[in-house]
Amino acid sequence: MASLKPLFDRPAMPVCPCQSGLDYEQCCQPLHRGTPAPSPEALMRSRYSAFVLNDAAYVKASWHPATRPAPLTLEDGDQWLGLTVLDSHQEGEDGWVHFRATCREGDGFAVLEERSHFLREDGRWFYLDGEHDVRPLKPGRNDPCPCGSGRKFKKCCAAAVIRGS
Ligand SMILES: [Zn+2]
Ligand SMILES: [Zn+2]
Repeated sequence: MASLKPLFDRPAMPVCPCQSGLDYEQCCQPLHRGTPAPSPEALMRSRYSAFVLNDAAYVKASWHPATRPAPLTLEDGDQWLGLTVLDSHQEGEDGWVHFRATCREGDGFAVLEERSHFLREDGRWFYLDGEHDVRPLKPGRNDPCPCGSGRKFKKCCAAAVIRGS
């Protein structure tokens, strides 16, 4: 998993998959272990991390029972590459987070953009529903490669994308 590169040489403390820049232990891990999320954005980030880590139990537990799919399975094939939180706000027991997430799709890449709606009940935030839109991501040849390699797209995954389209 590209997003779980060890920070310096401390393999026991990988960078959090939600790309907050914090260690997993100081970011999403406590939430995955049952600590209530302090804000809708924290819950959203912890759910994204759970998708990256394939933690279906957490995705399910943080989904409001009224809208939670049953059964819930995560698609193994989805390879999540990056998360950008664009906006988040809270009004009383309601919260909204607008974010963009990139993933691999076949030989190429896709962007999921979503406005998620969260609800707080008994001090716990739950994901309620969201409006989302998925579209293919077409990076420019000199853009950083969406796979997170740090190389330019043309020197990295471009060949595979062109073959696949
Ligand atoms: Zn995190
Ligand atoms: Zn690449």
